[in-house]
Amino acid sequence: MEVSLREINRIEIDEIDALNDKAYLARASDPSYARELTNEVLERAQRTNYQKGIGQAIRTLAAIEAKINPAEAYVLANQAIAILEEEDDKNAVASALMTVFCYYHHIGWYEESLKVLQSAYELATTSANRYVAVIALYNMGVNSEERKDLTAAIHYYALAAEESKDGVNESVHWMSKNALAKLESMQDSDPRWIAELREAQRQLLALQNISAACDSHTSLALLFSDRGLYREAILEMRRGRQLAAKHNQAPTISAMLLDLGEIYIKYGKYQSALRTYKRSYSYAQATGYAMSECRSLERMAWAEQELGLYKRSLAHLYQHIKLKERLMSEQSENRLKDLQTFHKLEMVQAEATLARQKNDELASINSELQNSLEQQARLQKELMRIASTDDLTGAVNRRQLINDGTLEMERFRHVGAPFVVTILDVDFFKRINDTYGHAAGDEVLRRLTKCCKDHLRKFDVFGRLGGEEFCVLHHDTDLNGAVVAVKRLMQSISEIFVSDVIGDTPLTVSMGLSQVRSSNDSFYDVLHDADMALYEAKNAGRNTFKICKSRYLEAA
Ligand code: GH3
Ligand code: MG
Ligand code: MG
Repeated sequence: MEVSLREINRIEIDEIDALNDKAYLARASDPSYARELTNEVLERAQRTNYQKGIGQAIRTLAAIEAKINPAEAYVLANQAIAILEEEDDKNAVASALMTVFCYYHHIGWYEESLKVLQSAYELATTSANRYVAVIALYNMGVNSEERKDLTAAIHYYALAAEESKDGVNESVHWMSKNALAKLESMQDSDPRWIAELREAQRQLLALQNISAACDSHTSLALLFSDRGLYREAILEMRRGRQLAAKHNQAPTISAMLLDLGEIYIKYGKYQSALRTYKRSYSYAQATGYAMSECRSLERMAWAEQELGLYKRSLAHLYQHIKLKERLMSEQSENRLKDLQTFHKLEMVQAEATLARQKNDELASINSELQNSLEQQARLQKELMRIASTDDLTGAVNRRQLINDGTLEMERFRHVGAPFVVTILDVDFFKRINDTYGHAAGDEVLRRLTKCCKDHLRKFDVFGRLGGEEFCVLHHDTDLNGAVVAVKRLMQSISEIFVSDVIGDTPLTVSMGLSQVRSSNDSFYDVLHDADMALYEAKNAGRNTFKICKSRYLEAA
């Protein structure tokens, strides 16, 4: 049952992995499909509590969001990274870092964004993820371009194009080729760059990387514009815009309208530029793309200024400043929130680690304590045993025998349970010692003890009073019962094998019995009565037992 459940889980996990990969790869060509798929995968991963799957899905959502709302994307990416780092999924961490890069790049933190790319590149390289490694290289080109370091940009784009030319990441390959051709064409009027841009465009379109294909249209348009090919530039922009519109790529449309406006400005077509900026403004408003809205306002103000529409220009500039202020403060707030969240997360993690350590320490102290308690209990038990046992024979010692007898006396007083005491003394023991030595005597005492214990009931007490004198405490027994037991003992003792120790010297014992009486004040009285009976047995010639008569009778 458990095995098949695990099997089901494994299949589910494999499927989640596959769907996550699929969604991540589809993010550029079909973002809305990728988003839908990822949300579905996220739900499944959450249902199975599959952390790696959850992290990867959030990573993909972040990548999709990066084109629309980089700040939001940044928060998501960091969530994903926190989970994926915990899962040690270097691959996915590297890809999530791309979104962090987008955010830093977007807000102009070029130094930080470069660092992010470098660590993503390292991670991707160590986990042999060339797909992401070449994205990092490409983005290093983007970063260098933004820092106006065109030599570095060309270097990185060329590297990205080279590294990806074996089909490891075709999108990146052609994006890099496109960027290279764009930069080269700025310094070199060779028409081959135009051909290269066209080729990149075609390939990106075939790869369904619409936003990159649109970028390529823009690059080409700007190139035409640079070379004074005004009509071609406008036409190129229109083609790109149509492509973006066909695929519902709102952010791309916004960006392209802004670029188109730029081209109009360059050619002194301020009216057309203003019209274009107005379109991009309302488009950005409709699609909720605030960054583009903000830029459109600024450009509208420029165009209006050129057209002498100062009042309107001023109003738009004012609007632009307000919006920019709002966006900047939103970004700062977001950043602040992130920092707080991360700080908190770090603290929580530190606390958790500390708690875990303390827990471990406590657990080990606890087990030590447990061990020493057990040890102590064992020692205690051993101590009790030693304190209540006679060394030589292992029988209960005198002290314990008196304790047990006293308890027995209490029981007799409270519930009237009768008991009998038998004192047993080895006959002519001194002779055994004298003839065969003390050690032989000791051995005889040990064998006698074993025999008696074996032939008494478990709950009867057999103790050594001292020397060769022993005592039996017969529980819940009257004289009739005790006599049966004593006869059995006499018989068994006579059969003890001792000839190896004392030759054919007979081993016999004499015994005296006494039943507890209501006139007895203490256990010692019962012992005393049994001793009297023993004395009688000795006097009667030994190897026999006698029962104590009542004192009344004794006196009579
Ligand atoms: P009776 O039949 O009258 O009991 O004669 P007995 O020799 O057994 O009596 P007695 O009390 O005179 O002798 C007991 C002897 O037991 C004396 C003592 O040396 C010996 N004895 C006492 N304790 C031990 C012991 O632990 N080991 C050995 N081997 N002998 C012991
Ligand atoms: Mg004796
Ligand atoms: Mg004796």
